[in-house]
Amino acid sequence: MRVPAEARVDLDAIGHNIGVLRERAGGAEVMAMVKAEAYGHGLVEAAGAALAGGAGWLGVAKLAEALRLREAGVAARTLACVLVPGEPFADAVARDVDLTVGSPGLVAEIAAAAGRAGRPARVHLKADTGMTRGGAAGDDWAALVDAALKAEADGLVRVVGIMSHLACADEPGHPSIARQVAAFTDMAAFAEKAGARPEVRHLSNSAATLTLPEARFDLVRPGIATYGLTPVPRVGAFGLRPAMTLVADAALVKRVPAGSGVSYGHTYVTDRETNVAVVPVGYGDGVPRHGSNLLEVLAGGRRRRIAGRVCMDQFVIDLGDDALAAGDEVVLFGPGERGEPTAQEWADALGTISYEIVTRIGSRVPRAYRGGGA
Ligand SMILES: *Cc1c(COP(=O)(O)O)cnc(C)c1O
Repeated sequence: MRVPAEARVDLDAIGHNIGVLRERAGGAEVMAMVKAEAYGHGLVEAAGAALAGGAGWLGVAKLAEALRLREAGVAARTLACVLVPGEPFADAVARDVDLTVGSPGLVAEIAAAAGRAGRPARVHLKADTGMTRGGAAGDDWAALVDAALKAEADGLVRVVGIMSHLACADEPGHPSIARQVAAFTDMAAFAEKAGARPEVRHLSNSAATLTLPEARFDLVRPGIATYGLTPVPRVGAFGLRPAMTLVADAALVKRVPAGSGVSYGHTYVTDRETNVAVVPVGYGDGVPRHGSNLLEVLAGGRRRRIAGRVCMDQFVIDLGDDALAAGDEVVLFGPGERGEPTAQEWADALGTISYEIVTRIGSRVPRAYRGGGA
């Protein structure tokens, strides 16, 4: 390896995971969510692997992410979910990006842009079924449906989707789940009665795709499971394969005396003469500083806890009397096959979710791709 650290991304694992999700989805189509650099795995590469694995659609949060896919030559159906007024909607329409709309104001703006682009915008109407985030609820739903169908009658938009998002799908049995599924069924039926003819109704994230057959509708939108991490670790792993392995080469190994204070603040002090290694990744690369004196890594075939504080660019591990050479590989997290921690294990130690562990690995860490996803 010629870089201090890299995130190895197994594209075949992404393809495999899409296969698992397609099976779970029954006959529903799969939209692979590739927002936020595909949860840190690399937007364009992960999108290619997901499509090769059988995803029919791509989903992103921001319009800029969708336009980047188009610039990279990715032509698959792509939905942008989180939009604000004033975005370049005419570009989106010209480049065939599907748009999520949750208010009549946004419908009007997108319809005007479609007029300029000279073709109808494809929109997905977002219902708020109980998440209380984006989308329209109550009377606002009727107003949104009305605005969209009027713009459709004018030839400016085409209502291709009706969608919502679940708040507690990762807590099996949570009473809000059934309420949201029922509300979504009703709200979609209301729009269809008013004249909407959507190609796809969609509600499910990864947790719902894996555990809630009644929430599949026509399309599912798995994100985290695409990357092999389960949103419901207590329920199971579902045969998913984690796609990311974060590795770094030891920068330096040295012998230090007992009583040596390690890293900023001397929050770790060696209790005997020992070997320490410097690992050249830090919070500037996305290793959480809250992991100081807490997270484990695999070095020389053994688990070692981070000794002292995580710095911006590096941290230290205490090897005891074990030998490790500068340049030897340290595995921070991965699928766990070699004994390294998983992203889930890091998340559990930190009181967060695996999503945050992989997504925060920054652009300073090069991605190295393996496989092709098919
Ligand atoms: C991120 C996102 C998803 C995927 O959620 P996961 O829990 O990662 O599967 C699905 N739908 C929408 C609208 C999203 O923003």
